[in-house]
Amino acid sequence: MRADIDRHDADAPIFAARAFRLSEPDADLIARARAFGRRVLAPRAAAHDRDATFPIENFRDMHGERLLGICIPREHGGTGADFRTYCLAAAELGRYCGATALSWNMHVCSTLWSGALADDLEMSAEDRGAHRTRREAHYRRILDDGAVYSQPFSEGGAAAAGVVAFGTEARPVDGGFMVNGKKIFASLSGAADYYGVLCTERLEGAAASRRNTLYLAVPADAPGVSVTGDWDPLGMRATVSRTLVFRDVFVPDDAMLMPRGVYFLAATRWPHMFLTLSPTYMGLAQAAYDFTIRYLRGEMPGTPPVKRRMFPTKQIAVAEMHIQLEQTKALWFQAVSEACANPSKEQVLRAYAAQFTVMENANAIAAKAIRTCGGQAMLKSLALERIFRDSRCGALMLPWTAEICLDRIGRDALYEPGETDE
Ligand SMILES: Cc1cc2nc3c(=O)[nH]c(=O)nc-3n(C[C@H](O)[C@H](O)[C@H](O)COP(=O)(O)OP(=O)(O)OC[C@H]3O[C@@H](n4cnc5c(N)ncnc54)[C@H](O)[C@@H]3O)c2cc1C
Repeated sequence: MRADIDRHDADAPIFAARAFRLSEPDADLIARARAFGRRVLAPRAAAHDRDATFPIENFRDMHGERLLGICIPREHGGTGADFRTYCLAAAELGRYCGATALSWNMHVCSTLWSGALADDLEMSAEDRGAHRTRREAHYRRILDDGAVYSQPFSEGGAAAAGVVAFGTEARPVDGGFMVNGKKIFASLSGAADYYGVLCTERLEGAAASRRNTLYLAVPADAPGVSVTGDWDPLGMRATVSRTLVFRDVFVPDDAMLMPRGVYFLAATRWPHMFLTLSPTYMGLAQAAYDFTIRYLRGEMPGTPPVKRRMFPTKQIAVAEMHIQLEQTKALWFQAVSEACANPSKEQVLRAYAAQFTVMENANAIAAKAIRTCGGQAMLKSLALERIFRDSRCGALMLPWTAEICLDRIGRDALYEPGETDE
């Protein structure tokens, strides 16, 4: 029997295998993620949210479940999940702990971008051979030792939005690079084993260029790496996204997670790579809806078995939430299904629209859930208020913030490349 219907006393999949035409292996993997989220992540989420502590034990358990290697290509011993399967699995984790799903995304991207994405991009045979050798070493650390990678690229300026070169610099030196700079909002700071830092390779006297972006795995314990500042935000508290400072940090050549020039190529040719922050929030949208159904049916654990479903206003609110959720799912599923190298303009605009829709609707559905369920539902003893706070963060995530998505859709819908009004 298929993974999504062979279950009792558990949540239904967000994307049912038969309805969304998923293959059996993909559906099984996604079902494993859902079961893991429900069994392992959900019970730990409240305490880490309250204390703003990183749930490192979740990542240790993910290692046991082989979830750390979900996107490591099969030829390197990983599970080899494709872009869509990863996104659907991540949405299922986001349902139970948004902060863990978001942090897991930072880790997984280090393998997805260096794996399936890099394989889709043009490279010389020499670069490809060297890349295979280097990534094998990164993947072995993850698969054998449970190493956790993070992905700090934000710097507080326009670089993370893709507008200018990263201010964090890597100067070529004998046998590697000397890294200097600062990253803000670095999820997994102090918890990751390696920071996958986006930085600009800077040759003596040369101007900084986005084309020279390097993606380097900096060991967390390398001399010159420090974690600074506090972390007491509104939502996604368990991501512990503090500031990272790199002061004359030496990394060897094999720290490169992508060959020279390939990150820039990926950002321009494989733009859906930036859609990977959205699955977490797709999961949160579903979680807010699930909560509402359970609560109004009087079936929410930890609350009295009082039914509220008979009131027409509640039924209308649930209908509106349901419609908004289905709209979000449909658009997002299409966007994550069609992700590929060299997408058409229409596909890129749809990806922006999907990102915008997930990020805004997750919070809108959570807000409506609070209004509909009522005052007792937003107590901190229940998950809804955390879902509401976590979902607010989605629209802020660079490089595809809700504002940037709007900017680009409006401009690109009205102008073809090179067109001006002069
Ligand atoms: C919970 C959480 C976890 C995060 N984890 C990570 C992480 O692991 N790694 C990581 O790198 N980042 C992470 N981020 C950071 C996030 O992606 C943003 O970088 C951060 O929220 C930016 O804050 P800001 O106030 O500088 O943003 P903003 O001021 O909105 O944007 C930053 C800059 O980008 C430029 N910019 C903004 N909008 C546009 C536009 N429309 N067109 C052109 N340029 C524009 C501007 O120069 C602006 O000053 C996380 C954020 C949150 C909330």
